[in-house]
Amino acid sequence: MDFAVNAEPSTDLAPTIAREIARRRTFAIISHPDAGKTTLTERILRAGGAIQMAGNVRAKGERRRTRSDWMGIERDRGISVVTSVMTFEYGGCIFNLLDTPGHEDFSEDTYRTLTAVDSAVMVIDAAKGIEDRTRKLFEICRLRDIPIVTFINKMDREAQDPFTLLDEISSALALDTAPATWPVGRAAQFAGTYDLRERQLHVSPPLEQSDPRMVQLAEELELAEAALPTFDRESFNAGHLTPVFFGSAMKEIGVTDLLDALVAFGPPPRDQATETRTVRADETGLTALVFKIQANMDPNHRDRMAFARICSGRLERGMRLKHTRTGKQFALHTPQFFFARDRQLAEEAFAGDVVGIPNHGTLRIGDTLTAGEDLRFTGVPHFAPEILRRVRLDDAMKAKKLRQALTELAEEGVVQLFRPQDGAPPIVGVVGTLQLDVLQARLSGEYGVSIGFESTPYNLARWVVGDKTKLELFAMANRSAMADDLDGDPVFLAGSAFMMRRTAEMNPDLTFHDIKQIG
Ligand code: GDP
Repeated sequence: MDFAVNAEPSTDLAPTIAREIARRRTFAIISHPDAGKTTLTERILRAGGAIQMAGNVRAKGERRRTRSDWMGIERDRGISVVTSVMTFEYGGCIFNLLDTPGHEDFSEDTYRTLTAVDSAVMVIDAAKGIEDRTRKLFEICRLRDIPIVTFINKMDREAQDPFTLLDEISSALALDTAPATWPVGRAAQFAGTYDLRERQLHVSPPLEQSDPRMVQLAEELELAEAALPTFDRESFNAGHLTPVFFGSAMKEIGVTDLLDALVAFGPPPRDQATETRTVRADETGLTALVFKIQANMDPNHRDRMAFARICSGRLERGMRLKHTRTGKQFALHTPQFFFARDRQLAEEAFAGDVVGIPNHGTLRIGDTLTAGEDLRFTGVPHFAPEILRRVRLDDAMKAKKLRQALTELAEEGVVQLFRPQDGAPPIVGVVGTLQLDVLQARLSGEYGVSIGFESTPYNLARWVVGDKTKLELFAMANRSAMADDLDGDPVFLAGSAFMMRRTAEMNPDLTFHDIKQIG
């Protein structure tokens, strides 16, 4: 009669959940290429004695590893190395660091990953200040009110003045900046930081009070404390104010300042909106959101890994979940947890954690899994692609295979797929052309289908929403410009922004969306 052991009454679950989520910190690092994201990630993982880390952040050289290489690592280590999430413990907290793709052509992927974090660390190069991609990624965070912690990196080199940098962040991003630490010394003389909250020097070996760096620090602190905003937790949580840390990832200065701050005030798992209500992270009923799919991680088994963020409750191995898009039950036989050291942890996960769920295509980006409640999370978007290409199949005998492959890769989010309603060959849509290269390479490598791309007369795609009859009439009148997306939702393809505006004006009963919420 030992089956009762696991049947913990739900009343006992609430304190466990409260305790566990209070120590979860789920975040991503955003930056312009070369600002130091990889280096900082390494240092963070090292500080946290990373339980497990992903292949592509280990070192730049290793990024070029082939898939089979890192599958080899998996086999050798007998564990599941997954590139998307790194879990480590630090200061009593469990951190989940979600990796975002470096190249901006994969911005949609980044956006989806950012729907699964509770905060973001924005890395800035101290010499360059705010750069293009930093700004773009920041805007994405702002859309979702994600609290931002700023790390000004490379203080061991020639850098801009800290006041100038703080000023630039505030004005370029319309964001209040509160210095959390202050640099002691600059460039080659950079010795450490002064913690403004704790009023403590983090400099080793210690400096004499008469050291010019200490003199400069005293002067600057006086000015900083008089003139600059102080940290306010509420503004931070609302995404209006960023605490700023100075450091050098390379010299390992300021890295623990950053982690300590995340422990102290880094937001725990946030509440998540669904179509019908807001799910609180401390609810006992399990809910999870699929934000990423990675297919064919093992080329011998056509399986797919769905990455789900737990939004509430406790996930346990062997649980049966409701897949709310289809209404079907989903048995969680082999969820993969990315923390492997602690056996107990490997059996369960809480809000903020990310689990990998192997499946054969049932799970899609934006899907919700629950313990039974009929909920659907919102906020995972598709953006209207800016580049539309027709797929040209080299070997006509492989049409069926191509169809299946394109569907699978589109489900994974590699490209968006549009099937013209007039039966013409499929059109793929991407935000950046690198996605087309990836599609081509993966079709050939994983499915043995060789394709080319042809231009289309279209430059814009819009999801058309409206009354069913009106929509049908519109689709009939514009048949050659209509397509269905992966979910069968109608899309209008236009040659130009001018055409698009005209079409919208002529069809006031219909709306044309450039963002589609999945789920
Ligand atoms: P990423 O492209 O943002 O991932 O940047 P990396 O971490 O690969 O860093 C880009 C370059 O800057 C590399 O040559 C790093 O060694 C160097 N770098 C990173 N952090 C620092 C730092 O704190 N100080 C100095 N001097 N160089 C750094």
